[in-house]
This record gives sequence, structure tokens and C-alpha cells, in this order.
Amino acid sequence: MQLVLASSNKGKVREFNKLCSSVVTPFSELMDSFEIVEDGNTFAENALIKARTIYNILDDDSIVISDDSGITVPILGDKPSIYSARYAGENATDRENLFKLIDDIKETKIERTPAYYTASIAMVSHLGEFVVHGWMYGSVITEIRGENGFGYDPIFIPEGYTKTLGELEDSDKSNISHRAKALKLAKPIIKILQREVK
Ligand code: IMP
Repeated sequence: MQLVLASSNKGKVREFNKLCSSVVTPFSELMDSFEIVEDGNTFAENALIKARTIYNILDDDSIVISDDSGITVPILGDKPSIYSARYAGENATDRENLFKLIDDIKETKIERTPAYYTASIAMVSHLGEFVVHGWMYGSVITEIRGENGFGYDPIFIPEGYTKTLGELEDSDKSNISHRAKALKLAKPIIKILQREVK
């Protein structure tokens, strides 16, 4: 049995290694890296597309895990959602995406509006396909505050807090984040799959 992550993002590899009792191998160590077209309509579909694509290349004794995440702002017609990573364009940086979101919110003339992060984790093995989700609710503001976290964190204030994720410690975020909640649900599933897939 091998546990494979359908991502080579170092942060994600670290998070999943912490979660699982055996080593998680990024798919790029097992095959030439290639682009997976994420053309699903939901976070779950995109997570599944990534995990399924890698699983189909590997042996039956693999468990492939992938995640997809992003931020949704209802006042903007639920944007950027699944397009969070490429909101300002195909190869946009996190900073460019952040500034585009701020500009879009400013256009509504509102300085603070509800928003939420979603994380979907897909697990594919010969036992079938599983997907779990986690959400973090809060609001977004039009001013950048703090340097912690990444992506949209400097403008996101979690529900019950006064600081943005950019101002909060990483340890605070890891207690409440969408990804942490999804990982918590994924953990028992991965454990069972590790036991059953020999
Ligand atoms: P993924 O790597 O395809 O899941 O894309 C995730 C994108 O959503 C990132 O590029 C960020 O823009 C955004 N995102 C997801 N989770 C977070 C988070 O915890 N903080 C800030 N931005 C996030």
C-alpha cells in the first residue's frame, strides 16, 4: 500500500504527513509532473478529478489523496469560489488574486461582507471514492491587515474574532480552518483505507 498526494505543494505534503501514520508521497516523486485540468463545477469535483487522475496511473494498491479549496463571497455572486487560485488570471499570484478581490468588494461600496472558505479532500482507492468537506465562516474587509497565512488571509476575519487571519497566529488558524476541519473528517477514512488496502 502506498499513500500518494495528488499535489507537490510542500505545505500540503507536510499537513498530510502529520495526519497519516505512514509517509505520504507527492505524485511528482512517482511520475513526471503534468498539469491536471481541474474542470469540475465544485471543490469536491475538482478534488476528485485530481485524485482519480493520479490513481488511474498508479497500481491498485495505492490510496490517492487530494484537496481543493477556496474562498466564496456571497455579495459577489459567490465568487471566486473554485476559481480562487486563478481569480486575477491563469497564472496570477496570491497577491494579484487578493487585490482583485479587494477591488471587487470595494465596487459594492461595502467595507465588510460575509465570506467563507471551503476545503474538500478526496480519497481514491480500489475500495471506492470518498470526499469530505470543511468550512470556515467569517467576513472579508477591504484593508490588508497582517502578514501571516497566505492567499486571502490578510482580509479574512473568522467569525468570533476581531483580527484577520493575517494577524492571527498560524496555530489559531489551524484550530478553526476549513482545511483542519476537512482533515479531521478525512483522518478516520484514511486510517480504514490504510488497514484495508494491502
Ligand atoms: P488549491 O491549491 O487549488 O486548493 O487553491 C487554493 C486557493 O484558494 C489558493 O490559491 C488561495 O488563493 C485560496 N485559499 C485556499 N485556502 C486558503 C487559506 O487557508 N487561506 C488563504 N487562501 C486560501
